[in-house]
Amino acid sequence: MPAKRTSNKIDLSGLIDRYGSEDKCSAYLEGLRWPEGVRCPRCDSDKLSRIVKRGQFDCDSCRYQFSVKVGTIFHDSKLKLSKWFLATFMICEAKKGISANQLGRTLGVSYKTAWYLCHRIRAAMKDAAPEPLRGTIEIDETLVGGKVRGKGKGYRSNKSIVIGAVERGGDVRLKVIKRQNKRHMQTFVRSVVHEDAERLMTDEAYAYVGIGDANTTHETVHHKAEEWVRADVHTNQIEGVWSLLKRSIVGSYHQLSAKHLPAYLDEVSFKYNNRDNVFLFRDTLIALLASETMPYQELIREKVSDSTLARRKRKAKDPTR
Ligand SMILES: [Zn+2]
Repeated sequence: MPAKRTSNKIDLSGLIDRYGSEDKCSAYLEGLRWPEGVRCPRCDSDKLSRIVKRGQFDCDSCRYQFSVKVGTIFHDSKLKLSKWFLATFMICEAKKGISANQLGRTLGVSYKTAWYLCHRIRAAMKDAAPEPLRGTIEIDETLVGGKVRGKGKGYRSNKSIVIGAVERGGDVRLKVIKRQNKRHMQTFVRSVVHEDAERLMTDEAYAYVGIGDANTTHETVHHKAEEWVRADVHTNQIEGVWSLLKRSIVGSYHQLSAKHLPAYLDEVSFKYNNRDNVFLFRDTLIALLASETMPYQELIREKVSDSTLARRKRKAKDPTR
């Protein structure tokens, strides 16, 4: 009998039981990093002694002393592993996203640290080698971006255009495009859809005309004429992705800047594509172990000064300001 899939699902108290101390976190990371046994990162030897007191290894061949964190994102950070684990857990669990403020309060760390964590963990939540979509695929675009005071709903210049394609019952791919025109939209479709995909479903937008071919049919619903569903022709699944995306932005990312939108789309699609993955927490930790280290300064290269950060922090606390 197959094991119950939900049995691997971990809740917050389970997380604290299992990974509440640095030793427990280190031991877990060790198994993820070196499933075949610990090896020296410098000379690849497996002849090692354990320095239990310091949680380190001593290489018998080259005398290099290292911990499980060496060469990973966890090394540069002064943050305890248990906080990294908790942050990763919260970000994985938050269906509608989580703000840096909320994370900071829960972990008891500064806003700056929480913001860094959010970005790093989000950067790790990325499909390494996304497969082309097959079968029946729904495609649509949406506008993302804040309102500007004094401008009506139709004001667009601060908005980004996001295009998405979702395989029915499968994965989604999202991308920011420069313009809602044929060239940008069809280039995206070709880059994410398998050439033998069976059916493409879109609305009546002119930019989609001609995306089908001999073995891929293109079917449309006429949204302007209030036609949303015709037999099994509809774009309901991608609409579901848009509402998920928008609820996350409204709920947690008041200050989502255009610069960070692509990374944020990666997070949303990664979570969506892993919606049935009971190992999401573990897989995100594995991705973090493999991710490149990026200093805080590099992340905030968009010229966010400390005073801007402080203002964002106040504003996020009190969105009415
Ligand atoms: Zn060595």
